Amino acid sequence: MQSVRSIAYRTGFRGFVVAMSVAVFLAIPSRAFPQAATRAPVSGTRAASLVIRNATIVDGNGTPASGPGDIVIRGNRIAEIVWLDPVALKAGSARRPTADTEIDATGKYVLPGLINGHAHVQDERGGIPQPLDYELKLWLASGITSVREVGADNLANLITLRGRSARGEVASPRIFVYARFGAPPSPRTPAAARARVQELKRIGADGIKSGGIDRDLMTAMLDEAKKTGLRVAHHAGVEETNAWDDIRLGTTSIEHWYGIPDAALKDGVQGFPASYNYRNEVDRFRHAGRLWREADPEKLLNVLDGMVAANVAWMPTLDIYEASRDLQRAQTQPWFADYLHPTLEKYFRPDPANHGSYFFGWTSTDETFWKENYRIWMNALREFERRGGLIGAGDDAGFIYQLYGFGLIRELELHEEAGFNPIKVIQHATGNNARILGEESRLGRVRSGYMADLIVVNGNPLENLKVLYPTGVEEMRDGKAVRTGGVEWTIKDGIPYNGPKLLAEVKEMVRAARAGQGR
Ligand SMILES: [Zn+2]
Repeated sequence: MQSVRSIAYRTGFRGFVVAMSVAVFLAIPSRAFPQAATRAPVSGTRAASLVIRNATIVDGNGTPASGPGDIVIRGNRIAEIVWLDPVALKAGSARRPTADTEIDATGKYVLPGLINGHAHVQDERGGIPQPLDYELKLWLASGITSVREVGADNLANLITLRGRSARGEVASPRIFVYARFGAPPSPRTPAAARARVQELKRIGADGIKSGGIDRDLMTAMLDEAKKTGLRVAHHAGVEETNAWDDIRLGTTSIEHWYGIPDAALKDGVQGFPASYNYRNEVDRFRHAGRLWREADPEKLLNVLDGMVAANVAWMPTLDIYEASRDLQRAQTQPWFADYLHPTLEKYFRPDPANHGSYFFGWTSTDETFWKENYRIWMNALREFERRGGLIGAGDDAGFIYQLYGFGLIRELELHEEAGFNPIKVIQHATGNNARILGEESRLGRVRSGYMADLIVVNGNPLENLKVLYPTGVEEMRDGKAVRTGGVEWTIKDGIPYNGPKLLAEVKEMVRAARAGQGR
């Protein structure tokens, strides 16, 4: 800020009077102009209050951007949003609220924290330890404030992490625990299925992840889950059940996509070659790429309508199959250079013993089938939402070349590719995911009274979803290329985390791990 004297010196007496009145104006106590008096937030520390100034806000409910506004956070809640647009200014309602700490969001966009609707908390890959912080920090740096964990190997550890995250003891998104129903010992009778649901409820699961079980068990499990108030995420494989069972039994969400085209097959079974073996992952993923083309279009619409009527949501995880349609793209993602942990790097390499590492002899023909598979899949998704269906977004990272956090942003890009307006894409990852979790009354929105889970983005994600990538984007400004973008602040439960700082920590973690391996 210039001093009054220097302004007066350059502008003469008239200027001096103007400058003095500006000075008087500036001398109004910090209540009115708190910018000079408040502090920047400390990454990882919740202040009593925080104001995000001058933000353009994209809410998580499918409405367009609006602003500027000041968002006031007290503790872990959004206390109020004060609009500063010209109409509000003229009406005199645009007072500037005060707070202990402040983020200047001029020219930036504020969104609800992203919810990763299909995630895996992993502290090892292929039996080799991987620091949990690596994944949690990547998620936060990507703007993720909640994850729906579907299928942990160690339920007790995950529940402990959920508690530590809720108490703010660890830099981590909120964790929602969807326990694996079929984890050994897998229930074999309907009575055992009911007992298993009760057991998971007792342990403290938020929901159930199911898959690979026969119809009688699925029926008992879903009935019991409804009674106990547990939501169910269904990864339908090629199995006895398909989307019609989810419709009949009222599954909360179908994960990925299996079970949906299967329910629309004319002859009830895909045209597999005689040599096909479901346990062979090369076979399984190769022929999954030839499934959507076999779905009867008319039958498929009936399935989608059935899902809408029964409130079965769809969590497509488009990103996790992308290597099947473009292997080279998947293997050469630019962020791998600095952010791919050597443990994960090893896991991604083709190996029949690692789930999803099936790229042996992957051909141009396989990719061509998968490209067509995506086109039909994406059209079905689009049609599903048009008919009233609820679509979420999740990264399923830690498998098939998808990196935690980055994978979710890629997922959003693929939703745009499927034809959704970026406003709807943001809604998929925020408001819709909150509904799928049953948390829509406190998460997924930028709204007074909601939890303070917000992200401050250095750019406009409605113009370019890539600005959400933690590594940012290159932009042309005044004829010069500049690095911009990225989630600058991820605020979870009122605790602000600085995105670039988290990313630098991850980079160091990866560097040290590689050095330890003599690379
Ligand atoms: Zn998964």
